[in-house]
Amino acid sequence: MSRIVYVNGSFVPEAEAVVSVFDRGFLMADAVYEVTSVLDGKLIDFAGHCVRLARSLGELEMKNPHSEAEWLQIHRDLVDQNGLVDGMIYLQVTRGNPGDRDFVYPGPEVMPTVVLFTQSKPGLADNPAAKVGWKVISIPDLRWDRRDIKTVQLLYPSMGKMAAKKAGVDDSWFVQDGVVTEGTSNNAYIVKGSKIITRPLSNDILHGITRVAVLRLAAEAQMEIEERAFSVDEAQRADEAFITSASAFVMPVVEIDGTAVGTGKPGQVVARLREIYLDEMRRAAV
Ligand code: PMP
Repeated sequence: MSRIVYVNGSFVPEAEAVVSVFDRGFLMADAVYEVTSVLDGKLIDFAGHCVRLARSLGELEMKNPHSEAEWLQIHRDLVDQNGLVDGMIYLQVTRGNPGDRDFVYPGPEVMPTVVLFTQSKPGLADNPAAKVGWKVISIPDLRWDRRDIKTVQLLYPSMGKMAAKKAGVDDSWFVQDGVVTEGTSNNAYIVKGSKIITRPLSNDILHGITRVAVLRLAAEAQMEIEERAFSVDEAQRADEAFITSASAFVMPVVEIDGTAVGTGKPGQVVARLREIYLDEMRRAAV
């Protein structure tokens, strides 16, 4: 089935959804993105994604082309036009098409390019992987130092995903200075006893929207949280491990570099967090 894609103010069939070869998103990865999940036709944590989008654009001195209300309307129209029930909406804003290739940013006369499309994933919240958990390997973190900006420079994360695939596992965890930064497209956590341990926010990791919600809900459920970095060795000896992202939600991690974490099966703390998160996010969906 052909999708309806949003490009610069128009909803068009995907075959007609095109951008210029001079677009800075294409030539320089000069672009930021967001991925918002849709469950039962409703947007999950939409406000959080809007805030982060504005921050990413601001850090790159790009103008936000829409207000939050306009972004919401575009998302909703795209859900409607595609009859999307469960899945994701991918949004990308680039610095636009200056008509040539130049390292210098174009002036304000060049409008940003705005593209949004849907990805249908029926039963997204019932992903069977959550029952068995992910296996991960660790690899060096070779990304740039501004991982807090959600840019489309995803080549190294993509290489990390391929390294995982070649190793027969589900994902890679990046390691820098002996400690885990995050997964290829998710934030990383361990559980010791009833305590949840995750790296504090900095420019070293993406400030996950799911991370904010999960830590808030965990605190509300009286769970203990410690924001500090952990090594692969500590993670292997933890009781449980997990990742969070807007599309995987809360996903158990049961093996790291071939070593089982805890029992080697998804643990109770992670299962509870996933349930609390999904319940609350469905309730608050817009
Ligand atoms: N870290 C990285 C590197 C990511 O790409 C993502 C997913 N975009 C995350 C963390 C998780 O962020 P979120 O919960 O907002 O999806």
